[in-house]
Order: sequence, then structure tokens, then C-alpha cells
Amino acid sequence: VTENGDVESGEAPHPVAEARPRRTDGRLTREVADRVHRLEHAHVNCYLIEHDDGVTVVDAAFPDTWSLLLKALSAIGREPAEVAALVLTHGHFDHLGFARRAARQWGIPVYGHLGDEHIAAHPYRYAHERSRLATLLQHPNALPVLGAMVAVGALRVPGVEVLSPMLDGDVLDVPGRPHVVFSPGHTLGHCALHLPDRSVLFTGDALVTLDPYTGEEHPTIVSGAATANSVLARSSLAALEATDAATVLPGHGAPWRQGIREAVAVARRPR
Ligand SMILES: [Zn+2]
Repeated sequence: VTENGDVESGEAPHPVAEARPRRTDGRLTREVADRVHRLEHAHVNCYLIEHDDGVTVVDAAFPDTWSLLLKALSAIGREPAEVAALVLTHGHFDHLGFARRAARQWGIPVYGHLGDEHIAAHPYRYAHERSRLATLLQHPNALPVLGAMVAVGALRVPGVEVLSPMLDGDVLDVPGRPHVVFSPGHTLGHCALHLPDRSVLFTGDALVTLDPYTGEEHPTIVSGAATANSVLARSSLAALEATDAATVLPGHGAPWRQGIREAVAVARRPR
């Protein structure tokens, strides 16, 4: 859903990550996978998983994404009351934006790993290895990405006090029945979400196709500027790979349709 209410759909398969627009309006892409819709806002993705029993939202982008989420629900013919849960891949501010509002206004559970409970409650106190300023100076391509994030509320994300806990291997009792794939490193409680019956893996920021801190567009772990432990993040790629999912839907960047094994192979290449 763009600002003027347009809905774009029908994303064509492409051998590499598709080019992204640098803009702060939202874009809904319907059916990026079977009954899965992508809502991109300022270079961050959230997803809507549809099932007979309702809708699960994966990640919460920014505060200003809320109105786009409402438009996206209406575009797919769903009511807010049909949203049963929000599931967070991790607790960083750029995936947490409307989480508190959804919990309070809709009374839905917000699932997350307890390893990220502290950062979800205090979104601006997270661990990272490298100076963000030094990284940005080396990668000026990232500046428009981060500027767009700030424009849509990245610096005013309220924390979430209570998470519904999820653990590795859990099958969440929410629409779509996502399986939890613990994949720490980017944050210490990071989890990917796997829909085995649809061969879809939501990788969160354990593997992205756009690194918001460098502007690079290919499957990769996120720069040390935003990652708690890169060695751990690299070792968690094995857990993603083990799902053998066909469609990879990351927290930043375009869908990857060549399978998680190929995405992980690219992410492991030394640079
Ligand atoms: Zn992120």
C-alpha cells in the first residue's frame, strides 16, 4: 500500500535480490509466498501470514507502519480483529515499532524469545560490536536507508514490557503454526520462523538481503554495527540451512527465491 493507497502485487521471481526503492512510503506485496504478504516500510519488512483461523503478523517495523498495516489488512480483505498474534524475530527498534500499540489496542500476544526481553523493553540499549558511526563513514550508501528509518519513527519506538515466550523448536499456536528456529548472534535471543508446510523461512536479521548498515544487497549476516556477536551469527546460519526452505523472507531486503541453502552459501563467502 503506497501513501496514495495503491497496492502492488505479483512479484516476479528473479535470480538475485530485487532492487529496492529508497523511499519512506510503504509497499505491500501480496503473495510473496503461499498466503504470505510482505509489507515493506523504510527498508524494513514485516509479514502477514494468513490462515483459516486468522492472521499472524511477523515483526513490527516502525511506529508509523501502524497505519500501513491497517491498510494492508483491508487490502487483503481482513479485519484487525482477525489478527491473532504478533511474533518478533528479535527485539531491535526497527522490528518493534507498533508492537506495544498492537498489544494494547488489539489485546494480542507479542511472542519473542526471552533472550531479547531486555532489549524489547529498552529498544535503544542493545549490544553491537562495531561503532555505528565508523561503519556509516565507510558505507555512505547506508545513509539514505537509515535516514528513511528515522523519518518513520525509528527514534521513538516504545518498548514492550511483556513477551509471550517462545523457545527453539516450539510450534506456535497462532495462524500459520510457525516453527521457532533459534538463531542467535544478531541478538542473543534471535529466532527465525519456519512454515514447513509452505517451505517458507522468515529469517529476521539472522540473514538479510539488504544490510541496512552498509547498503549491500545480497544474502549476508548484518554488519557488526548492529550485531551482538558475528561469530555466533555465522554459526547460526546452519540452523537456518537445516530447514531447507525454498523461499527466504528476510527482515531487510527483497525475498530470496533460490532456497535457504544457496542464501547461506552466499552469506558465508568471505568478503
Ligand atoms: Zn533490523
